[in-house]
Amino acid sequence: MPEVSRDEVKRLAAAAGFDICGIAPVEQFAELEFLKEWIERGYHAGMEYLTRNADRRADVRAIVPAARCVIMLGTVYNADRPYSTEDPRPEQATLARYAWGDDYHPVIEARMGRLVESLRAIAGDFEHRAYVDTGPVQERVYAKYAGLGWIGKNTCLINRDLGSWLFLSAIICALPVEPDTPALDHCGRCTLCIDACPTDALVAPYQLDARRCLSYLTIENKGSIPGEYREGTGAHAYGCDICQDVCPWNRKAAVTSDAPWQPRPGLDAPTLLALWTRSDDELRALLKGSAMKRAGIRRLRRNLAVSIGNSGDPEAAAALESCAEETAADPLVREHVAWAVEKLRG
Ligand code: SF4
Ligand code: SF4
Repeated sequence: MPEVSRDEVKRLAAAAGFDICGIAPVEQFAELEFLKEWIERGYHAGMEYLTRNADRRADVRAIVPAARCVIMLGTVYNADRPYSTEDPRPEQATLARYAWGDDYHPVIEARMGRLVESLRAIAGDFEHRAYVDTGPVQERVYAKYAGLGWIGKNTCLINRDLGSWLFLSAIICALPVEPDTPALDHCGRCTLCIDACPTDALVAPYQLDARRCLSYLTIENKGSIPGEYREGTGAHAYGCDICQDVCPWNRKAAVTSDAPWQPRPGLDAPTLLALWTRSDDELRALLKGSAMKRAGIRRLRRNLAVSIGNSGDPEAAAALESCAEETAADPLVREHVAWAVEKLRG
């Protein structure tokens, strides 16, 4: 098989639209084993799919037996807007930064496809699997060993120059490419992320209990938001960025002008009521092709109800109560609306 140099892979990755690229070796890294321990502690919350393929996630050779390296790719999604911790307003919906623009899966898959094609043009056909977030790959661990950054105490991958607003994707492949050097940890004595988490979900440095994390509770969680975390939810109607917003390495994070990650009209700092008062069809149209469609309309309304309840605006209670019949009939939404109305009316 013709060799491809590491520099050539990086040049082709940049040409395919990636902001950063590194090569990880295929080894039994100690961090890959932490996933099982994390699951044993119950920190995976309701994400049962993680328990089903924890063994596959422990080694990429379970996916591509002939794997010789993992090409790790990072894409900056940081659109030029303030952080949620700067001038937070209770009436404004806080939406996770990654979800403001287009759904990243098809965009990044297409870019990985271009990269694979250009590698094939040099090296011929080779066995590979490409994943963006959806496969049984522990991307952050491979990103660390590919030199893309370190896994911070907030459990995000942080790059010294770019910050942590990165979509990570991976191409596990049978090409023998010389690996990069792993990145060093630069968290030092800082604990800003742990101190800022509104629900104490960072139970120890580098350890996230998803059962308490707003990113889990407002997106993956299909049921009710536990009462003990509703006030802490604040205006977070979809996800949470606080532990990244406060990170010193994001103070000068790279900003992107890449079109897919720019906020869509309607998702660019909307108020909670502007979202709530849309009909379900209008919300569906708004979320079509966006990463936010993952939670669906029911869960979004559940979150909005809690956030409106936290807004302190008694006038908003009427808007919550005058929702469409279809919305009011849904037990999940109804229960959160009742909580919010009671909170607003004191
Ligand atoms: S995403 Fe939010 S809730 Fe989750 S650990 Fe970070 S600050 Fe805490
Ligand atoms: S806020 Fe501090 S401790 Fe947390 S990830 Fe950033 S540098 Fe590390």
